[in-house]
This record gives sequence, structure tokens and C-alpha cells, in this order.
Amino acid sequence: MKKVLALVLAVAMIASALVLTGCGKDGGKDGGKDSEKTYIIYSDNAFAPFEYLDTDTNEYVGVDMEIMKAVAEDQGIKYEMHNEGFDPAMGAVQAGQADGMIAGMSIKEERKKTFDFSEPYFEDGQVFVGKKGTTMEDLKGKTVAAKTSTVGGEYAESVKDQYGFTINYYEGSDNMYQAVLAGTDVACVEDFSVIGYAIKSGKVDLEMITTEPANVLGYGFAVKKGENAELLEKFNAGLKAIKDNGKLKEILAKYGY
Ligand code: GLN
Repeated sequence: MKKVLALVLAVAMIASALVLTGCGKDGGKDGGKDSEKTYIIYSDNAFAPFEYLDTDTNEYVGVDMEIMKAVAEDQGIKYEMHNEGFDPAMGAVQAGQADGMIAGMSIKEERKKTFDFSEPYFEDGQVFVGKKGTTMEDLKGKTVAAKTSTVGGEYAESVKDQYGFTINYYEGSDNMYQAVLAGTDVACVEDFSVIGYAIKSGKVDLEMITTEPANVLGYGFAVKKGENAELLEKFNAGLKAIKDNGKLKEILAKYGY
């Protein structure tokens, strides 16, 4: 990160030196500054099929990765992707360390106090998941796994008294699934499509306890509230373009939607 900043600063200094010395073409009226900016985008790192490491190529792939790429291509945006996890991504955007994030992030009313969101590109809600045969009655007196800072965690909090369980928080979806498989927690809460994908692909031997998604919300790209309006505008324009030309549909279909 520091290296990137140093590089950006160095490039900016050279650019302004060129403008000052009149070396820039047409006097560097706008200096082409905006089109040269490389945006720093953060994402989750284990949230298939939205973002996950392809162990063959050692690259992050998935719906969000492809949407960002397609939008950037359409809008001529340069960006650098950092797959650090969901809570770290939110922190990076709030700290101004990242310009934006795309991470299967639900457009939740409360988040609008600190984030500005794009138009939605997907919709999903929360389900309880456990080992085969687990019922909601089995949660009583036990612990349930949830992911830090997520809608799933919030949903678990809202029904924990009703079902009599307590919550253990995990940083990553994969840690959460492992905890259920290992028997540390009796169940976890996850976005329906994400756990559906993990179950279908045979990655985790779990099943949904509830099958009707709760707290259904749109997924959106996000920037810090009041910042990076230009990036958000470009994202929305690019998203509209890939909705209109069928590219978004194609990306979703590639991952089974
Ligand atoms: N959609 C959920 C949320 O926004 C989970 C996102 C994630 O874990 N990447 O809270």
C-alpha cells in the first residue's frame, strides 16, 4: 500500500512538473489527470461465486471480479483489486485507503449513513445452514457462526433470543463453514446464493436449515459517503451498459445464475 502511494505521488509530481515546464501536450489544460487515476478497489476473498481464489491460476475470480472488469472496460477506469476480506474492505473504504468496494455487499439502509451505493446488480437474503438433518430447534442452547459486519450477523442477532442460541463471529465465510463442519458451532448464517453455490459444488457437506431467504437486499458497489462521486457515477454508467448489452446476464449465467 505504501509503495503504491509512493508511486502515485511520484507519478503525480512528474506530471505536475511536466505541466509547469510546459512539456505536457496542449499545456496540460486538464492534464488528463482523472483518466490516469488508478482506483483502489477492495473486495472479499472467500465469497464464491462472487470472489474467490482460483487455485489453478492463483487469481481472484467470480461475479464481482468480472462485473468490475466489464464496467472498467466500458468506462475506461483503471483500478487495482485487493481481495482482503469483507470487514477489512469496509474498513479500507471508510479509512479512505480504498476508493470503492465490490464484495457481494448488501445495500442496507443503515450502511447508507457511511457509504454511497451503486444501483443493485443482484439480490440475496440470509439462510441458516447446518449439518444434514439440523433443525431450528437444535440451535437452542448452542452457538451459531456468523461473519463479522454482515447482514447475516445482524439477522442472527435479531432471532437469537427467539431460538435461544448465542453467536460466534468469524472473519471469513470459509472459517464459518469449517466451524460448523468441525462441530464448534451447530449452524451458521450465510447469503443464500453463496452457501447454495458451496453446497452445489460439493465444497461443503452442509444443508440449509431454512430455505426461504430472510432480509433480502440488493448487492451494490460502494464508496465512502460523499467521496468518489465520479467513480460511483462511472460505475453506474458501466453497470447500465452491461445490463443493457447482456454482459451482466452472461457473467451471472457463467456462475450458475
Ligand atoms: N451480503 C452480505 C452483507 O453485505 C455478506 C457480504 C460478504 O460477506 N461479502 O453483509
